[in-house]
Amino acid sequence: MNFDLTSEQEMIKKMIHEFADEVVAPGAIDRDRNKQFPLEVFKQLSHMGVMGLPFPEEYGGGGADTLSFAIVTEELSRACGSTGITYSAHISLGGAPLYLFGTAEQKKKYLTPICTGESFGAFGLTEPNAGSDAGGTRTRAEVDNGEYVINGNKCFITNASYAKQLALTAVTGTVDGKKEISAIIVPTDAEGFKVIDNYEKMGLNASNTTELVLENVRVPLENLLGKKGEGFKQFLITLDGGRIGIGAMAVGIAQGAYEKALQYTKERKQFGKSISSFQAVQFKLADMAMKIELARNMVYKAAWLKDQGRPFSKEAAMCKLYASEICMEVTNQAVQLHGGYGYMREYHVERMMRDAKLLEIGEGTSEIQRMVIARQIGC
Ligand SMILES: Cc1cc2nc3c(=O)[nH]c(=O)nc-3n(C[C@H](O)[C@H](O)[C@H](O)COP(=O)(O)OP(=O)(O)OC[C@H]3O[C@@H](n4cnc5c(N)ncnc54)[C@H](O)[C@@H]3O)c2cc1C
Repeated sequence: MNFDLTSEQEMIKKMIHEFADEVVAPGAIDRDRNKQFPLEVFKQLSHMGVMGLPFPEEYGGGGADTLSFAIVTEELSRACGSTGITYSAHISLGGAPLYLFGTAEQKKKYLTPICTGESFGAFGLTEPNAGSDAGGTRTRAEVDNGEYVINGNKCFITNASYAKQLALTAVTGTVDGKKEISAIIVPTDAEGFKVIDNYEKMGLNASNTTELVLENVRVPLENLLGKKGEGFKQFLITLDGGRIGIGAMAVGIAQGAYEKALQYTKERKQFGKSISSFQAVQFKLADMAMKIELARNMVYKAAWLKDQGRPFSKEAAMCKLYASEICMEVTNQAVQLHGGYGYMREYHVERMMRDAKLLEIGEGTSEIQRMVIARQIGC
């Protein structure tokens, strides 16, 4: 076994680590307060060539591996969870289904602007009545005059306000009395397509979370992504990869909160000493460091399996579940270790704790991850 990163992965880690400290972290509190999307940060990330990191160079991508994608997501999230989720969704939910299931023409047309950063990537699965049970999709796409006519609503969709197009699921018919779900690429400026950016969230306030309303939106039949009726299967495959992204985000946010707590406990004096000299405080920090290390190993392993072309659904669900749960614990303890100051915005850790909660919900809740793992272990 080899636990060392390659020199390319080390280089990417160092570059994004420094960028996160110098460019992403300084505005994180203000962007959260003002619900300001990190557009300037992403302009710079586009120039750095990481917006299409794991996709082939022929589409403007970086030709790197999943582990490199996880490293970038972790490093950005360490400084700002909103920047982390924007990047993770852009690649693993926006770009990945186009790369995995698109025709060469579709990839050229739709994946290239994602890789260059001209468009953000987004993915429309969830609906008001179809969340964990994504098969309950009600959005319909009917064929009329050589086009799909799409009607329906999607909710909680990341990045859609900044995406030129997105893939979404819709019912395209019935097979043996069951809904046939397909994935269709829809330009966000199509007539009848509204993207509403109106949610008031607990955290990740600088990220873009939207409602989609589709009223008689017409797209050509060639916008079908992959085979008709395979949309549901495709999105499950996409989510497996997305879970590595959420796991990496969780490791990053937890690492950021742990670093703040370590620094603060060394500086804060009570009873005439640094609070880090108290064993009860040291044990909290030791547990935080251990859990982050475990979670990171799980994320890296899932990414490595994916890069080897081996099955990784179980490991992706495990890393997402474990990392998101320890992220919630670690950020909670980081607030605790800051005492009253931890409850104040300027110390960052309260934002990290609010941001962490989404990770136990998005891309399959913790309960759904346990169902996936239970199925994989043969329950
Ligand atoms: C900020 C944010 C960003 C998001 N981004 C996207 C995106 O880009 N694209 C997208 O398509 N979706 C996105 N989502 C949606 C997200 O994936 C869903 O919210 C999530 O899958 C849960 O669905 P739900 O909200 O309908 O909850 P529900 O499915 O209604 O779940 C409610 C509760 O019931 C539990 N539950 C449900 N079924 C079972 C069961 N069988 N056994 C045990 N417990 C169960 C759940 O675990 C949960 O605790 C986003 C959500 C948020 C909040």
